[in-house]
Amino acid sequence: MQDALAILQKYWKHDKFRSLQKEIIDSVLSGQDTFALMPTGGGKSICFQIPAIMNDGICLVISPLVALMKDQVANLQKRNIKAIALTGGIRSEEMIDLLDNCQFGNYKFLYLSPERLQSDWILERIKSLPINLITIDEAHCVSQWGHDFRPAYLKISTLKKHFPKVPFLALTATATPRVKEDIITELELHNAQVFEKSFTRENIAYMVFEVEDKFFRIEQILKKNPEPSIIYVRNRKSCLEISSQLNALGFKATYYHGGLSSKEKDKNMQMWMNEDIQVIVATNAFGMGIDKANVKTVIHIQLPENLENYYQEAGRAGRNGEKAYAVLLTSPSDIIQAESQFINILPDKKFLNLMYVKLCNYFQIAYGEGINEQYTFNLHHFCLKYEFPTLKTYNAMQFLDRQGIISLSQEFSEKITLQFLIPSKEVIRYMSLNPNDEEIILAILRTYPGIYEMQTAFNLQLIAKKSNHKESEIQAVLHKLKGKEIIEYHSKNNDSTLIFNEVREDERTISRVSKYLENQNQLKKEQLQSVLNYISEKKVCKNKLILRYFGEKTEVDCGICSFCITKKNKKKNSTSLSNEIINLLQSEDLNSRDIQNRTKNNPEEVLFILKELLENNTILVKSNNKYTLKS
Ligand SMILES: [Zn+2]
Repeated sequence: MQDALAILQKYWKHDKFRSLQKEIIDSVLSGQDTFALMPTGGGKSICFQIPAIMNDGICLVISPLVALMKDQVANLQKRNIKAIALTGGIRSEEMIDLLDNCQFGNYKFLYLSPERLQSDWILERIKSLPINLITIDEAHCVSQWGHDFRPAYLKISTLKKHFPKVPFLALTATATPRVKEDIITELELHNAQVFEKSFTRENIAYMVFEVEDKFFRIEQILKKNPEPSIIYVRNRKSCLEISSQLNALGFKATYYHGGLSSKEKDKNMQMWMNEDIQVIVATNAFGMGIDKANVKTVIHIQLPENLENYYQEAGRAGRNGEKAYAVLLTSPSDIIQAESQFINILPDKKFLNLMYVKLCNYFQIAYGEGINEQYTFNLHHFCLKYEFPTLKTYNAMQFLDRQGIISLSQEFSEKITLQFLIPSKEVIRYMSLNPNDEEIILAILRTYPGIYEMQTAFNLQLIAKKSNHKESEIQAVLHKLKGKEIIEYHSKNNDSTLIFNEVREDERTISRVSKYLENQNQLKKEQLQSVLNYISEKKVCKNKLILRYFGEKTEVDCGICSFCITKKNKKKNSTSLSNEIINLLQSEDLNSRDIQNRTKNNPEEVLFILKELLENNTILVKSNNKYTLKS
């Protein structure tokens, strides 16, 4: 067995572990259930990937987000490590093949969602795999007090029964003490080894500024800090607006949000990564897989939904350890806006019920039917038809998605399916007559053996890579083949794909999950309250407020946040004022009104300083109420 460090060097090209990584790896290797809280991200996945590579067998990774799984699988594949993800939208037949691959193809990682684990036949197949470690990523999803509760996580502990000797590793980047307790209990971790990295980011200065003109302040900040910067905004529209305003002022800015095609996302992100531009204006869709060390400022121009998200987003600043700024710009109207944005749009049980019934009607699903049906879904069209408010509906859909009742993919993807209509003999003849198309056709036939029999989902990028042609060239060939009726070819653009994971049961479906809905609505209100407290608390260090929220105690002020800086300035001002008063009293005795008039400071401050000077015996009050220096 190679040692952990050798594997880190071989596959990741890092020469040493970051703090706690090695300890967590050792704990897992010793077969212990392990809980690890690693707030600052970057390096969490190494904690399970390295022990899994070191041991024989395959590591099961349970993860809540398709994009997260894809990102990690791509990362492993890039390092020539065999990994596979069972994400939504894969047909059962294909799934069986993939699972067979895991068993016989020497795969090291199998990623799947907690909902998948609930299918009996998938569980049966998994039971026969040589599992060496079970990793639960984003483990806070198991807690009702986490900000992303998913009930399917509660079922993960059943794996304990089937794999009594396999260690569990629960990983999270964000957990309050209450959530941490939940994770350990609900996942039934035995004598868990607990590793917690502090939430402290010593080089990040948390700044909260109440300003009238946010844009002007952004301009000032970016001018003073010309290094890479992220500006988080609330919606897609503001992304565009702020970014073009910045460009108009001569900054170099681009934008990023969930509505862009993956090509545009990649392009904009690359420009920023390569530092062709300074600023990326983004919604919270921007985050995953960003590993840019030298981000100087992360500016939020609207209130975040909760401090968990804020901490994650702000924490993208200063990964290189150099001083960095996390700035939150607020204005008085923000509180009302945040309430209408985050609280008023929470669906209640009645709305959820209504929406679910209409959703089934929309797709003409009969009671007791609909399981595993897949549809193309356009939210706006749906809302328009039933006169539903868009955001509330969106939230209700998200809730159903997290509860596993539906699966909603929000990728803007062009989906292509195709099938060959003529026998293989004829295809070969066609290729001999059209040698220029041969490479592309061969790549397709080799990649999709079943393509003669049925409409097959087709991956344009993959075929482009395999055949060594541009995507546009492949599209041209497909177009030609379609024209000659050699293939049938469909391509459609859709906002999202919707899959029903359960049969339609109207109220029965909804009442089963509605208690979670109420809890979550309550939690969301509490979370927003914590954000409001973070911005409005004027007497506590901002860093302290954040650490306190995550259950960490600290007595020291950070010295660099907006509170600490203001305090320092006040102190500086009061020192100069007290020097000024002493100077005045050196020439003559004065009463407090004289002093106020001559120093031109506000009365409270002058009185405060006089009191201080009296207390430390620098001055005295005489019987005529005049102050004099103590000799
Ligand atoms: Zn501070």
